[in-house]
Amino acid sequence: MPLLENHLAVVTGAASGIGRAIATGFAREGARVVLLDLNVRGAAEAAQEIRDAGGKADSFALDVTRREDCIAVARKIAGEIGQVSVLVNNAGINRRNAFTADEGAVIKDWQDIMAINLNGVFNVTHAFLKPLCASKGRIVNIASIQSFVHVRTPNSPAYTASKHGVLGFTRALAAELGREGVRVNAIGPGLIETPLNEQVRTTNPQLVQTFLDHTPLGRAGKPEDIVGPALFLASDLSAYVTGSIVMADGGYRTI
Ligand code: NAP
Repeated sequence: MPLLENHLAVVTGAASGIGRAIATGFAREGARVVLLDLNVRGAAEAAQEIRDAGGKADSFALDVTRREDCIAVARKIAGEIGQVSVLVNNAGINRRNAFTADEGAVIKDWQDIMAINLNGVFNVTHAFLKPLCASKGRIVNIASIQSFVHVRTPNSPAYTASKHGVLGFTRALAAELGREGVRVNAIGPGLIETPLNEQVRTTNPQLVQTFLDHTPLGRAGKPEDIVGPALFLASDLSAYVTGSIVMADGGYRTI
């Protein structure tokens, strides 16, 4: 039996990169998927690709920073599609300005990154809380190696703080919702080749090399590398796992 048969899974930031791969992988394993993204065209294309391959998929526009819109889309899905049992909080952005960079950039980075990467996770999770509790659902938050590290591979303090926050939120929610039968876990990707880091990979090969020098598997990841961990955490394969982070980083954090 497919791993996610009879599940309705919502994935944010599903038009591109990791979220798109997860939505596609979930549909392959029998889930009906709902792709949410700021990029409504990309999400619709991805949903169409899933349907063309025989899967069940819908897409809606959503900016995760807008709390009222998160509530509205959760109502729409409950009314038109069904009870959500899996939520993947994946939408995120990154900027790599140091804290000592131009003041305007530092302030804007902090506000934008926190609004999407951390407040967005809160907004969407809160909006889908009722169906997730009713279905004894699973929440998978996309954290990062930056949920732990900072110095070796420079990143903006805002991004690092947001991903520490995502891990803290994951653990707090796991502790609170365990008795409801809801499991909450995170994935910690290393360097994954997606549009998120396309520019830095092109303009700063030295940074990429620094990553690879500290990656035992010796390569950058692909979005598909995150699908297995996501399936594990969303399915009954991980029935006794909650409050955990599965690192999908080629071993980066181990050395
Ligand atoms: P990506 O290819 O850029 O995809 C992110 C998607 O999220 C895009 O479609 C983007 O739309 C969308 N998005 C941005 N802001 C949004 C908002 N306010 N509301 C809804 N959707 C929004 O990036 P990715 O690499 O797959 O990243 C996915 C997640 O993995 C992020 O949380 C990221 O921090 C995390 N992560 C990535 C890596 C990596 O190396 N790639 C490593 C660790 C963690 P637009 O294109 O229109 O902006």
